[in-house]
Amino acid sequence: MSKKLIAGNWKMNGGKVANEALLNALLAEVGQPACSIAVCVPAPYLAQAQSICAASAIDLGAQDVSPHEVGAFTGEQSAAMLKEFGVRYVIVGHSERRQYHGETDALVAAKAQRALACGITPIVCVGESLAEREAGKTEEVVKRQLAAVIHSNGHCISEIVVAYEPVWAIGTGKTASPEQAQQVHAVLRAQLKAASEKAGRIKILYGGSMNAANAKELLSQPDIDGGLIGGASLKATDFLSIIASAV
Ligand code: PEP
Repeated sequence: MSKKLIAGNWKMNGGKVANEALLNALLAEVGQPACSIAVCVPAPYLAQAQSICAASAIDLGAQDVSPHEVGAFTGEQSAAMLKEFGVRYVIVGHSERRQYHGETDALVAAKAQRALACGITPIVCVGESLAEREAGKTEEVVKRQLAAVIHSNGHCISEIVVAYEPVWAIGTGKTASPEQAQQVHAVLRAQLKAASEKAGRIKILYGGSMNAANAKELLSQPDIDGGLIGGASLKATDFLSIIASAV
């Protein structure tokens, strides 16, 4: 089995001084981790994070990418621009973007496609709302969201990372139980396997209030290949503890 991936999603947090302190604290303690690590920083700080993390165990990620290649798209960043800053991963379809920016499954799929075309691994987020879970629609929702990305990316699908992030667990302190998470991960794994014979290599991360206390159990589930971490990625000790759990 390949290494687990622990990716921090800083969201719209940070600043030059705080970023430097956080990244240096991580680098001072991370040593030779058993897992792969990434930090998805706000776009203005990509250059700063790139220079601090150069030649280290910490890879760089972005939080969004334009579905367009180039041109009159004010405010957007292209995949090629991200690539120039050494970006290895980009989050697409985070529930906050689906919710606050009206991102559709088709748009998320187009963003994943642009990232892949530039050699950047999209971390494709899927997840159900509380109402959808309560209505028994969890599987239907996550499968629909993932299907859009599978259909527009064909054989390249083996190059993506998937993150199952139940919306009701993001930033709320409510975590899916390891069993609940595993159940959905198994569904996603089966869907990926049906789409590509190379699907075995696709990592499926869990995200949603993962922290130092619950990471070990979540990460020990057979189909949980890592974590996408929001709040707990902003504190070096917490993030390092999650990294240490990912063996
Ligand atoms: C996220 O935003 O991707 C996330 C998982 O956030 P949190 O860990 O804070 O729930």
